[in-house]
Amino acid sequence: GSSPSANIGVVGMAVMGSNLARNLASREGNTVAVYNRSPERTRTLVSEHPEAGFVPSESIADFAASLQKPRTAIIMVQAGAGTDAVINQLVDAFEPGDIIVDGGNALFTDTRRREAAVRETGIHFVGCGISGGEEGALNGPSLMPGGTAESYETLGPILRSIAAVAEGEPCVTHVGTDGAGHFVKMIHNGIEYADMQLIAEAYDLIRRGTGKSPAEIAEIFAEWNKGELESYLIEITAEVLRQVDADTQLPLVDVILDAAGAKGTGAWTVQTALDLGVPVSGIAEAVFARSVSSKLEQRAASRTLPGPDGFQVEDADGFVEDVRLALYASKIIAYSQGFDAIIAGAEQYGWDIKKGDIAAIWRAGCIIRARFLNRITEAYAEDPNLVALVTAPFFRDAVDTAQAAWRRVVVQAAQAGIPAPAFSSSLSYYDGLRAERLPAALIQGQRDFFGAHTYKRVDRDGVFHTDWSGDR
Ligand code: NAP
Repeated sequence: GSSPSANIGVVGMAVMGSNLARNLASREGNTVAVYNRSPERTRTLVSEHPEAGFVPSESIADFAASLQKPRTAIIMVQAGAGTDAVINQLVDAFEPGDIIVDGGNALFTDTRRREAAVRETGIHFVGCGISGGEEGALNGPSLMPGGTAESYETLGPILRSIAAVAEGEPCVTHVGTDGAGHFVKMIHNGIEYADMQLIAEAYDLIRRGTGKSPAEIAEIFAEWNKGELESYLIEITAEVLRQVDADTQLPLVDVILDAAGAKGTGAWTVQTALDLGVPVSGIAEAVFARSVSSKLEQRAASRTLPGPDGFQVEDADGFVEDVRLALYASKIIAYSQGFDAIIAGAEQYGWDIKKGDIAAIWRAGCIIRARFLNRITEAYAEDPNLVALVTAPFFRDAVDTAQAAWRRVVVQAAQAGIPAPAFSSSLSYYDGLRAERLPAALIQGQRDFFGAHTYKRVDRDGVFHTDWSGDR
C-alpha cells in the first residue's frame, strides 16, 4: 500500500465523529483518516466534503496503515458496547506507543477499566471529555483529556488545534491520568443540570409572581446576560422564551410538554458524589426535579393536593432583582459543590487536577461557558487549597451581597407554594456550612443509643459510649 499520510484518525462517522473529523481537517497541518463500521457513512462524508482531504478506509487494518506513528485515533461511536468493540479492533491493529482516544460520553469508571486493560499492550488509552454537542465538535469544543502525560505530548497539539478559544487560549488541558478527563466532563454536566434548573426556577418565580409573559421574561434574561450572570445558558434561555409556536401562535414554552428528559450524566454525577461523600445537593435537586417533572401520572393524580397556588408580588422590578441575586448566589453554590466533587475525585483516584485550569477550559465551547468562570480561575490561583469555592473572597462577597434577596425569594416561594428546590437547598447548604453547631450532635446521640456507634466529645479526645439504660 501507499505510505501513511494521516497524522490523526477518527473512528465513527455519525454526527459527532464526522463533525470532529471536519474540524480536525480544517486546521493547518492535519490530515485526517476516517473509518466507520458501515462504509456508506464514510463514503457520504468524503463525497460531501472534498475540501477536507480525508483519507478514508473501509477496514480497520487499512485505517491503521493510513496513520503515521505514533498512530493517534479518536473514537466517536455509541457509548458502551460499541466503544468496547472498536477499542478491541484498534488494539489488534495498533502497536505499543500508539494512542487510542475515546471521545464519547463514557462513565469514568469504564474509562479507568479500559485504560488499565489497554495499558497492558503498551498502547496509550485516553478518555477525553468533549463538550459542546454537534456544534462544538464542528467549530471548537471544550476538551477534557485524561490518560498519560506521555500521550498528551502527541495528542495535546492536535487537540489544541481544534478546541474552542477563550481570550486567546485553547479550551483544553491535560486533566489527569486515566479517567480524570471523563470524570471532569461528568461534573461539568452535573453543574449544567444545576445551572439549568436554577434558571428554570427563576423563570417560574418571575412568571407566577409578576404575571409577565415569556417574551417579557426573555427581555429580562437578555438584560441579565449583560451582567455577572452572562453565560450561554442565560443567552439561550432568552431565545427559548422568545420563540412563538408557528401552529398556535402561543409562546413555544407553553406548548412544550413540561416533562424534562435526561441522558444520565447528571445521575452519574450524583451517584459518584454519594460514593465520595460529597454533598452536591444543588445538582441532586436538579436531577430529582427532572424526575418529578416526568412523573406525569403521579402529577395528574396529585393536582388536587391542598396548598397555596401562586402569588402576585407588589414590586415586580424589586422581585425580579431579588430573583436575579438568588440565582447568582445559588449558582455560586452549585459550582462550589461541583469543584468539591472534583477535589474529592482527585483525592480518591490520585489525579493531580488543577482546578483553575478546569474553570479556564470551560470558558468557551461548552454548555456552561460563562463570564463567571474567570473568577473561579482567579480564586484558585490566589489559593489552590481553598476549602470551598464559596469561601474565596470574591464569592463570599458576592453571596453576602445577594443573601438577603436570596432568603426573601426562598421564603416567598415556600409561602406561595411554588417549588424552588435548587434555590432552597442551595441556601440550606450555605447555612449548613456557616453553622457554628449542627444538630449532627443529636444524630450521634441517636446512633449511640440504638446501635452503640459511639461518639466523640468537644472537650476531650477519645471515643465515648453512653449507657443509655442508666438513670436519666
Ligand atoms: P451514536 O449515535 O452514539 O453512535 C453511532 C455510531 O456508532 C455510528 O458511527 C455507528 O456505526 C457506531 N457504532 C455503534 N456500534 C458500533 C460497533 N459495535 N462497532 C463499531 N461502530 C459502532 O453517534 P453520535 O451521536 O455521533 O455520538 C458519538 C459519541 O459521542 C457517543 O458516545 C455519544 O454519547 C457522544 N456524544 C457526545 C455529545 C457531546 O456533546 N459531547 C453529543 C452527542 C453525542 P454504524 O454507522 O456502522 O452503525
